[in-house]
Amino acid sequence: MIQDLVQHIDRLIQQRPAAKTALTPFRELALLMVQVDPQTKPVELEKGVMDMKQQEGFPLFSRDDLPLDFNAAADLLKNFLGHLGATDRDDRKGLKKALKKARDTDGWSRNLFKIFLRQDEEALTLIAGEVDLNPKVIQFLGQVALIPSIYALRDAVSTNIDTDGWDYGYCPVCGSQPDMAYFAKTGRRYLHCELCGEEWVFSRIRCPFCDNEDQETLGYFEAEEEEGLRVYFCRECMRYLKTIDKKAFEEVAPLELENLATIHLDLLANENKFK
Ligand SMILES: [Zn+2]
Ligand SMILES: [Zn+2]
Repeated sequence: MIQDLVQHIDRLIQQRPAAKTALTPFRELALLMVQVDPQTKPVELEKGVMDMKQQEGFPLFSRDDLPLDFNAAADLLKNFLGHLGATDRDDRKGLKKALKKARDTDGWSRNLFKIFLRQDEEALTLIAGEVDLNPKVIQFLGQVALIPSIYALRDAVSTNIDTDGWDYGYCPVCGSQPDMAYFAKTGRRYLHCELCGEEWVFSRIRCPFCDNEDQETLGYFEAEEEEGLRVYFCRECMRYLKTIDKKAFEEVAPLELENLATIHLDLLANENKFK
């Protein structure tokens, strides 16, 4: 899966030059990601407990207790910091400071991962300030460093869960919100988890963030000359969801890449007061 990322990135950059700025730094990280092989311990989950959780609308894990290989993620984070700190980026000094912290301070990386998973913005700003980095940069690096471990976990558990019975706007594996959606060729809508990448079917006319089903307050817009890419929004909660119609494309990249390749749609949504 991770090996394919680089190929998809190269194709996207060729077909949609506008995506180049967002995808090029990610391509460098993806090349480093291929080198890690996270250890997933077999996750023992009792079938009865899993079924009950599913029926009651509880995800398998919460973001706080995901059994991830944090050591593999910490090694990868050091590789990211070392690699980016040696480039001519404006924030290279901060990246070097962060690398020193990651090497010398026990538990620094793990703390960063936990803060990211808890979505504790205050703590994130604090930890970023200590190494003179933009909180968004440190958050992105932490998130990407966790990807191989999170995917390994998702692959280990997703065969055991029946997402067909899952009718909620949050992820059945980790409880996170969707960051994108797509229409399959069958016309069904799937949501894509912002953290673990799990996908599950969800009604077409319903807001996953507040369950609003009122057609008057739900809608979408699209960017000019971009067939198959839409932004669905909800005027009740003012949230939006970028959505790809797979019928309109010959090939669709993994949605974490499509998400990066469509940042212009986020800007458009923000301009229209959606968040
Ligand atoms: Zn998830
Ligand atoms: Zn809503």
